[in-house]
Amino acid sequence: MQSLTNRSKVVERKEMTLAERLYLPAIVNGMVITIKHLFKKKTTISYPEVQREFSDIYRGHHVLKRDDDGAERCTACGLCAVSCPAEAITMVAAERKPGEEKLYREEKYASTYEINMLRCIFCGLCEEACPKEAIFLTDRIVPSNFERGGFVFGKDKLVEKVDLRIDVSKRQTKSVLEFKTHKQYSHNKLINK
Ligand code: SF4
Ligand code: SF4
Repeated sequence: MQSLTNRSKVVERKEMTLAERLYLPAIVNGMVITIKHLFKKKTTISYPEVQREFSDIYRGHHVLKRDDDGAERCTACGLCAVSCPAEAITMVAAERKPGEEKLYREEKYASTYEINMLRCIFCGLCEEACPKEAIFLTDRIVPSNFERGGFVFGKDKLVEKVDLRIDVSKRQTKSVLEFKTHKQYSHNKLINK
């Protein structure tokens, strides 16, 4: 058939040699490559016995932070939910009652706060959107589960324990840390352990 361009090339099919027909060179070459890999540094690890060290800014399991006095920082403004591209966050807002000042920092708080970890793509936009420095992603891995319902994390799994704080200061850039030194932004003061 006449070709449409002059770029076509006729490929000749060469006769295979005896060795090639026996596949011996190919087998030997394959074995050499396999043996070479035995002496190379392994890229796999025996998880969970061995665990990798994650970067400080790894985006894993979220935490809802408390302030220095132990009150929940979240004010149920909903900005994290609005910014979430996966629509993974839902919450119910409630009004703080007199006497609850030590539990909730703002007059409004989230009585229910849930993240569906099956929807979450760990993009970190919720963390970026939060004006109260209340939600952060951490270097913890979301544990596996056999039930879909087990991946909907409520406040019991998200809010940090009063006596077991999670340090997120390394996730914050130099400029953010500098910003927090200004008195007028003291509500955003550094919230490490
Ligand atoms: S990390 Fe991204 S996808 Fe996950 S809850 Fe936050 S905003 Fe949504
Ligand atoms: S975590 Fe932050 S952005 Fe989300 S509702 Fe609470 S205060 Fe608002």
